[in-house]
Parts: sequence; C-alpha cells; structure tokens
Amino acid sequence: MSADLCEAEQIQSPGCIQPPFALYCMHPATLETLAATTNVGEVLPDGKLPDAALDRLKRYAVEGEGETGIEFMLGEEAVAFAHLKDNVLLVEVEKLCPEDRIYCHGGFELQVAISALSDILTLEEAAGLAADAIRKLTGMERVLIYRFDRYANGDVVAESKTPDWAESFDGFSFPSADIPTQARSLYLTSPARFTACRDYEPIEIRPALNPLTGKPFDIGRCRSRSLSPIHRRYQENLGIDGAFSLSIVTQGRLWGLVVGHHRRPHRVPIPARQQAVALTGALAVSISAMEVVEERIGHERDHIIHGQLLEQIATAGDFLPLLVGGQTKLTDLFFGSIGAAVGSWTENDDDGQLTIQTVGFVPEERAIFDLIRCCREHMINGLFATDCIAKLAPEFISHAQIASGVLAITIGQPTNQIILWFLPEVIGTRVWGGATPEQVKKAKSDGDYLPRRSFERWAEEKRGYSRPWLGRELELGRALQRTLNNVILVQKGAIHTLEGRVAEKTRAIETYARSVESSNQNLEQFAWIASHDLREPLRMISSYLSLIERRYHGLFDTEAREFFGFAREGAKRLDAMILDLLEFSRIGREDKDLAPVPLADVIAEVMDNLAVATAESGAEIRIDAEMPVVFGGYGELVRLFQNLLGNAIKYRHPDRSPVVRVSCRPRLDEWEIAVADNGIGIEESHFDRIFRVFQRLHTREKYDGTGIGLSISKKIVEHHGGRLWVESEFGNGTTFLFTIPIRQMGPG
Ligand code: ADP
Repeated sequence: MSADLCEAEQIQSPGCIQPPFALYCMHPATLETLAATTNVGEVLPDGKLPDAALDRLKRYAVEGEGETGIEFMLGEEAVAFAHLKDNVLLVEVEKLCPEDRIYCHGGFELQVAISALSDILTLEEAAGLAADAIRKLTGMERVLIYRFDRYANGDVVAESKTPDWAESFDGFSFPSADIPTQARSLYLTSPARFTACRDYEPIEIRPALNPLTGKPFDIGRCRSRSLSPIHRRYQENLGIDGAFSLSIVTQGRLWGLVVGHHRRPHRVPIPARQQAVALTGALAVSISAMEVVEERIGHERDHIIHGQLLEQIATAGDFLPLLVGGQTKLTDLFFGSIGAAVGSWTENDDDGQLTIQTVGFVPEERAIFDLIRCCREHMINGLFATDCIAKLAPEFISHAQIASGVLAITIGQPTNQIILWFLPEVIGTRVWGGATPEQVKKAKSDGDYLPRRSFERWAEEKRGYSRPWLGRELELGRALQRTLNNVILVQKGAIHTLEGRVAEKTRAIETYARSVESSNQNLEQFAWIASHDLREPLRMISSYLSLIERRYHGLFDTEAREFFGFAREGAKRLDAMILDLLEFSRIGREDKDLAPVPLADVIAEVMDNLAVATAESGAEIRIDAEMPVVFGGYGELVRLFQNLLGNAIKYRHPDRSPVVRVSCRPRLDEWEIAVADNGIGIEESHFDRIFRVFQRLHTREKYDGTGIGLSISKKIVEHHGGRLWVESEFGNGTTFLFTIPIRQMGPG
C-alpha cells in the first residue's frame, strides 16, 4: 500500500456506512430521499421515517439550527442524528438496543469526574482521571489520551487499561503519518466516532452519486461513516476490534484524541457515548484553562523582566555592557537560558572588526563568531530561532550541552549588533510506537508503509535539542529589538542630543515610577488576579453553556431559550469587564518606551476609529488649536483621546446636535488640553466618582459601557506625568481637561 494512496483516500465520501446505522440522504427543501442505505427496511418499518420525524427535519432544514445538527428520538425504537452538508440533509438512524434503555449508571461517574477535573492542577492528572472515567463509562478495555506535538506526532499522556492486557502504550509517541492529513481535519468537524466491530460488512448508499450533482455524498461528519480500509487494517495490526475516538479541541484546534480500544467487538450504549463525549469536552475546557493560565503567567514574567532591562539601560549612554553586566541581564529574559552574547561590528561597517561581550555559559569565542555568521544567514527580518542549531551546522553539536537552542536578533541601522541567547540541551528519550517519524518517512518512500504491522517499543534518544522557543518568547525578542533600535536612533541624535534624551528618559521613568507608586496597589493587584483567575471559571461557564446548548437545544422551550440568552449575555459582559480590568492593570507596564508623539496624528487616528459613531450621531468635532508633539506612548494616547471623544459623542444631549471641541494651550511647563462637549453634563457631586473603576451614572439600557474608560484615561494621563479633571454644568455640556509636560519639543 503506497503512502500517497493513503493520503489521497477520499475518506469523507466512502459511499458506505457501518451497521447498525441506516442513512437517508434527503433534499433539504422537499425532504425527498435522494439516496439511502440498503438496510433502511431493517432499521425502520417499511424503511420509512415517521411523519413526526419529517416535521422535525423540516423545521431543522428550514429554520436551520446551526451547523451542528440535531438529535431526536424516533418513537421508542430508534434515535436519529441529522445534519446538513452541501445542500443535502443527512439523516442517520440507529435502532435502540436493550442496554440503551436499561443503562442508568454512569451519570454519577460523570458528575464525580467533572467536579474532580475542576480541582486538578496538572495536565497529567487531568488526563489520567479522564482516561479512567471514560473507560469505566464505556466499558472499553483500554483508553489512551494523546496530545499532538507541533509536528502532529501523537504523545500518549494517559493510559487506562484492564490489568489482563499486558501491552501498554503509556509514554509512547506515534508518528504523525499514522493519521493522514484529511483524517486529521475530519477530527475537528466530526469529533466522536464509535465502532462496535471492526470487521463489519459496509452498507452501501444507493444510488452512490447524488442525482442532482452527480457527485458522491460527503458523509465526513456522519457518525456512521464507514472506516477506511487502511484504518481497519491498522486496527487489526494493533489487535483491536471495538474502538472509538473522541477529539479534544481547545480554542478551535485539535489538541489531541481520546481513543478507546477493545480486543473483541464492543458496542458502547448510546447514553455512555454521550457521557464520554461530555467528559472529553470537560477535559478540553480544563486543558485550555491550564494553558491560558500558564501563558498569562509567562507573559507577565516576560513583561516585568523586559521592563527592568529597559529601565536599566534607559539612563545609560552605552547600554551594551549593561545587557551583559547590569543587575538584570539578557539571560534573565528567557526561562532556562544560561548564556547570552552580544556581537558588535565597527559602526556602519558590517565586515568590520567584530567584538563580543558575553554573560553566563557560552561556547568559546571562535564558535560564537561562526554561530553569528550562521544565524545571520538564516535570519528573517533580523530574527532567527532554533531548538537545534546542529541541524544547520553539524559541528555545533560539540557545544550542544550549553548551546543547543539559539535565538538571535540583530539591532542597529544599518545592522551592527547582534544578540544571541543560548538554551542548553535537554536529553530526552522518546519512545515511539513501532517506528520513528524518520523511519516512517523512509518506509513511505520505499512504498511500504501503511498499515503498520509492528507497534513494538522503539526508543529514540534525542541529542542536540533544547526545549523549543515559545511563540511569546519570539515576540519578546522582537519587542526588545524594536526598543533597542529606538534607543540607538535617539542616541545617534536623530531627535535630540544624547544628554537631552537621557534626561527625558530619566524624568519619564521617574514620573512613571511615581505614578505606579501612587496608584492604588490593591486595585492593581485585584485587577491582575481578577483577569487571571476569574477568566478561567468564566471560560468554563461559557464552554458549558455552549455544550449544553449544542446537546439539549432541541429540548429548550421559548422561556428556556430566553433564560439561556441572558446567561450567555451575562457571561459575555463579565468577560468584557475582566478584559477592561486587565487593560487597566497594564497601563504603564508595557508602554514604557516613551517617544515623541504628534498629538495631531493621535487625534486623526481616533477620528478615523470613531467615524461610524460620528456619522450616526451627526457630531461635529472641531480641533481648535495646533496640537503639539508630546513625549509619551502612542497606543496609550490613542486610548485616552478615544475615551474622551467617544464619551463626548455618547453622552450627547437629546435636543442638540453634538459639537465637540479640542483645544490646547501652554501653561508654565505643561500643555493643558481640553475636550469640551455640549452634551448632558455631569452633576458636581459626581465629579470624583466617575474616575473610579466601574462607576457609571446611567443604566446600560440608556448608555452602553462598562464604566472603566475614565479610570483608564486617568491612569494614562498620570503615567505621562499629568493630571486629568472634569468641569461641567449639569444639562449644559462637559469639559475634560488634562495636562502633559512640555518637553523640548514645541508645537507640531
Ligand atoms: P462608560 O463606559 O460608562 O462610558 P466612563 O469611565 O467612560 O465609563 O465614564 C464614567 C461615567 O462618566 C459614565 O457612565 C458617564 O455617566 C459619565 N461621563 C463620562 N463622560 C461624560 C460626558 N462627556 N458627558 C457626560 N457624562 C459623562
């Protein structure tokens, strides 16, 4: 069997299904049967769908209840699953067996497992618990949980099996080629498949081609879709008869699979299948919660170290020695990086003399020279990263212990500096089930691969690899590159003299430090914890709401649907508030590399963003003064003007056409900028309150909003060394005023 044949197999339209199902392919408008499997007469009396079922299908096909499809009982005897695909209504029918009716255990098992999952901290524990519970629910002899790595190889992260089955795949990895690409994409759209018996007689669809299109029916999402012959032989070689696979989907991607194996035929009762699917959903939710928390914590750590590194160099004329010898060093930036090097060429001369400064454990100088050359050859936009440098240059294997992984960024314009970070080797043994991906590749090219016959343990020792660089670390490398380039640009006198710039930087950082100190630390902490900790259970609630909706939507009456809508709306709103809090807690943390910002540009961008609201309200925005260039963070200033101008339009007076005026005047050593509107105004007794987090003066029905905009604005202004206040006459318009220090730059 050639590998290409395997990849080319049309598994979504095999033309047949597995027993005991029957399948109707119907016209969605007329419900005319375009084709059906040859066994419909055995599954339903006369092979006909009852009238009540036709009514249900019509409602689904006409009203369209989403992509997911519907599931409903056909009297007491059978259950039907229906979904639309390519303008064909596919209706699968399965006759109930006695065990489907008497099956009453499992509900408790499911509850216990789901509540235990919410207390669990590690992936291994969660997967182990889910594997055990799913095995109990389904009665399978072995349940495996796989996670796909970045190359789509499947690592077994949990196994639960009957003690009398000696063969264990615990800790094994299976090469990506075991699952052809098209099967992998089907796992996303068709997340559950149960096969009671491997050697069934496939049941054909007649006619095989859709009479309206002349094409075979796409039954990729049918639960009863017949297994591909290659897959069946693969199962046979594995010694499995009854089987199932459930997709673990997190944030829209196929994270892994829960797979069930039985050495003899084994039909899982329908209620147990539903419970196994629900538990897999719960597992996916808790995995994604763990991933998100890990990512957030990592992000926060990155920002803190990045900030410390920059604060340290901001006041230095020559920052290179500080990167390797300061209190915060390059090696602190990435977890596990034990050495770093900075290479510098003579100014403006790429081929000039190269000097190197290092910190921590690094290869000898000659090797660093070679590494720099190698990295520069492979850079994309000034960045290069690998977890195995020896793959590019085999001689580097001799430095693998300290420099297996390398991340490099170039800086300077033209480039005359390069920074390298090294990650040490992580010696790992990977146990492959049967063959390594390289061996599979070779077997494929020899035309002798699938289905595999052997699943023997095949240990492979991995040498010369570090842990992989994470996506967020590469982003951090880029951010550092941008900042250092800015610093270099400024130091060259492009905007200021070096001294002026240093003084500016120092003052900006001092002001920033003051503002951070004076801001409400408790609130900051709460904001951070809230955005971290509240979002996870919230995400869980949202996921369960979708799960319930998908599964029980058919049972909802109008009232239940309305209640459900409220619950979803509430969850969405809470999520928006938490995101706002997160943004609030971040002000000043990220945008520390302040730069000259023309306020005219900021206002132009904000007016662009508000174009729809301006047009809808008929508002007129007048800029009454030439706007200055200030020293600040562009993104934060955009947010500030967006809040003030957005509010000025939003809180307009019902009887007047809105006019907003932006003006600016110098006062001593600061600019005073005013945003004045002719809107509803604010009572003086509320002047303080509106700047507090989540404080609003109106109901959401009247004016939409979360009440954090002005708190964020205040924090931004303070971060820039200024003050923000309000003046207003209730019923007669409001003016928000803020100050921002005048640096050496004059008006635009
Ligand atoms: P929101 O999301 O509610 O707009 P903000 O923090 O932006 O939150 O504002 C807090 C409250 O201050 C608003 O709910 C509103 O009552 C009041 N407010 C803000 N800007 C104006 C304005 N230009 N005119 C009148 N009231 C305003």
